[in-house]
Amino acid sequence: MSRPAWKTELASCITGPEALDLSPRREQAMNRVIQRYPMRVPPQLARLMDASDPLCPIARQVLPHPDELRSGGQADPLDEENFFIAPGVIRRFDDRLLVLVCNTCPVLCRHCNRKRYWKSDGKPPALATPKDIAEALKKSAGRIKEVILSGGEPLLRSDADLNRLLMAARGHAGVELLRIHSRAPVSLPNRITPGLVRMLRRHRPLWFVTHFNHAKEIDKQASHALERLQTAGIPVLNQAVLLKGINDSLKALEDLGRALLTAGVKPHTLFQLDRAEGTLHFQVPLKKAVALVAKLRARRSGLLTPHLLADLPGRGGKVPITPSAIETFVENGAWIKGSDGKRVFYRC
Ligand code: SF4
Repeated sequence: MSRPAWKTELASCITGPEALDLSPRREQAMNRVIQRYPMRVPPQLARLMDASDPLCPIARQVLPHPDELRSGGQADPLDEENFFIAPGVIRRFDDRLLVLVCNTCPVLCRHCNRKRYWKSDGKPPALATPKDIAEALKKSAGRIKEVILSGGEPLLRSDADLNRLLMAARGHAGVELLRIHSRAPVSLPNRITPGLVRMLRRHRPLWFVTHFNHAKEIDKQASHALERLQTAGIPVLNQAVLLKGINDSLKALEDLGRALLTAGVKPHTLFQLDRAEGTLHFQVPLKKAVALVAKLRARRSGLLTPHLLADLPGRGGKVPITPSAIETFVENGAWIKGSDGKRVFYRC
């Protein structure tokens, strides 16, 4: 049997600056960063980026930058490590399980909040097996309504593995919904094969949540991958992260929203950056984020405007950041109303 095209693409990822024809100074600077945070750029994004343009919104997301070595932030900004209830299974919310099924990705995003797993001295997490999922669901005594497959990139697992993992979740009474959180439509769109889609279709209701941050990422191949999912009756939502210098302008957010809607995808959420080590240079001040989304909402279609959310560590929850949710801004953050109505300090 011939090798699937996506595996060939995966084998051609760029892992160092030498392939990019950059100045020796920039190459050296990138190599210093790579010693701590490796680099991987799949052919799809290499085709779309302009490595020589310091403002290219794709290059900024995927090429190592010296700012990553600045101190600050936490290894585990969401405190996930304290919420494993089985190998690879995180329960931070009462009704949802997040399941880590793969610890690698076709692209190593510079803003990733799980950089702790793939940095050079990082310890990749244990991955969940179908048995771990079943046990975690049993332990949760029927309270879990949604199971989310994540990673790393869950779609780097084979169709057969994914089928088994989804079956383990689906086989438990009370689980209503399955979700896959994947950046494959951005980084490896030919992974969305007819075979994969046929298998996913059998597990409906299943929602596919993807992660486009800029309109430039949505080319013909990406649109084709999204269309395949939708044609099979799998709804696709987008979860973006607000990133300084990449999508923190009205125009960039509007263009992203329009490109997503044209591809049939709802711009669902826009997250404030989690304060992960090696990512703080992407942080957009909360005040600016709130103003941007309010302007977008006021001027453009509601369909185009995502919910601005902050993910608070531990059980703090995903809090919608609206002007009324903010009590007061202070120098290094803001006091906001948490999901339970309590006042919480959000560092930003
Ligand atoms: S694809 Fe997701 S998990 Fe992988 S590096 Fe990017 S943000 Fe992190």
